[in-house]
Amino acid sequence: MAIVYNWQLGRTMSYWYPEHRPQRQYAAVFDLNKCIACQSCTLACKTTWTSGKGQEYMLWNNVESKPYGSYPLAWDSKLLEMLGPQTWKDGKYLGRTIFEAAPAGERVLGWRPDDYDYAFPNTGEDDCAGQVERGLALNLPHAVWFFYLPRICNHCTYPACLAACPRGSIYKRPEDGIVLLDQGRCRGYRECVKACPYKKVFFNPLTGTSEKCIFCFPKREQGLQPQCFVNCIGKIRLAGYISVPESANPDNPIDYLVHVRKVALPLLPQLGLEPNVYYIPPVHVPVRFLEQLFGPHVQTAVQTYLNAKDDPDLAGLIQLFGCAEKIVPRWKRQNDWIIGMEEDGAEIVRVPLREPVFERPLFDERFQVARHNCP
Ligand code: SF4
Ligand code: SF4
Repeated sequence: MAIVYNWQLGRTMSYWYPEHRPQRQYAAVFDLNKCIACQSCTLACKTTWTSGKGQEYMLWNNVESKPYGSYPLAWDSKLLEMLGPQTWKDGKYLGRTIFEAAPAGERVLGWRPDDYDYAFPNTGEDDCAGQVERGLALNLPHAVWFFYLPRICNHCTYPACLAACPRGSIYKRPEDGIVLLDQGRCRGYRECVKACPYKKVFFNPLTGTSEKCIFCFPKREQGLQPQCFVNCIGKIRLAGYISVPESANPDNPIDYLVHVRKVALPLLPQLGLEPNVYYIPPVHVPVRFLEQLFGPHVQTAVQTYLNAKDDPDLAGLIQLFGCAEKIVPRWKRQNDWIIGMEEDGAEIVRVPLREPVFERPLFDERFQVARHNCP
């Protein structure tokens, strides 16, 4: 085991290989306040990459309803129970990661789902965290709640799948940090399926090998965002490159959201993988639940997001999500416009900070039709 630094934990930790960061790390931010669980992302990935035989239960992208939804079944709660206490103090993680808690003779603490666990992709869909009683009023956070959690592979800085593979079939690309699985080397031992805590490696029973999300690397190489991003109806996703905190650049949209404003957080950082998909937490959910999912900085992130109405930079950058097919590596606000740019400053896209509101007459004389306006 090597000793590596994990900035999400605020400390060093044990990992199977020495620290070796890519030249650039491809990353993403998802705004959970905007996801409507339409599953367009799920289908975009399915029809692009996993519509073949043996891939029927493979969802490289899935959207599940929290608190009860999970695909495969209990992917999160089972491991969190195995891991034991997960406490933080002053931003530093005091518990054990899944590498530090590995049983003797194993590289990672993990478990392998049964076939049955993949049979119910939508269990718990839209099940609330409580009974809606008569007279209940809406306040923040909501007494009764659920929210949607879209998930892809996190292209982790310290991938558990890579650490666990006895064949060395899984590798992290030096040019962009995308984690890929070499089908030619894989012998189907499924150690990666057992090790990935997010359960984002899937076994193909027909080929006898494992497969996973490839972060649409052929599109990345053309400067384009992934399929599940550009097909997202809610415009909740933004792809780009993330720096380590000490090199954060506010002109880089991902750095701005993660490092500068700290409004986007990693999923289950306590596991120790330094995942590279970041989430803006839902503002209507109790903080205790969110802290378990996104770590100790949730309350600040929620408050920052709630204040975005008086914060034109943050509100504007959130408007930029889902507005371009190209990857947007730089951005700036110019009065009431948000401009997404190439590295060299060339404009890719421009969106208004405030969209105009049109109130239409209830009866339109010109077309002789009656209309309703939303209140
Ligand atoms: S999310 Fe899982 S499959 Fe993806 S890189 Fe991390 S450990 Fe590997
Ligand atoms: S990034 Fe590409 S491969 Fe990964 S889940 Fe999205 S569409 Fe599928």
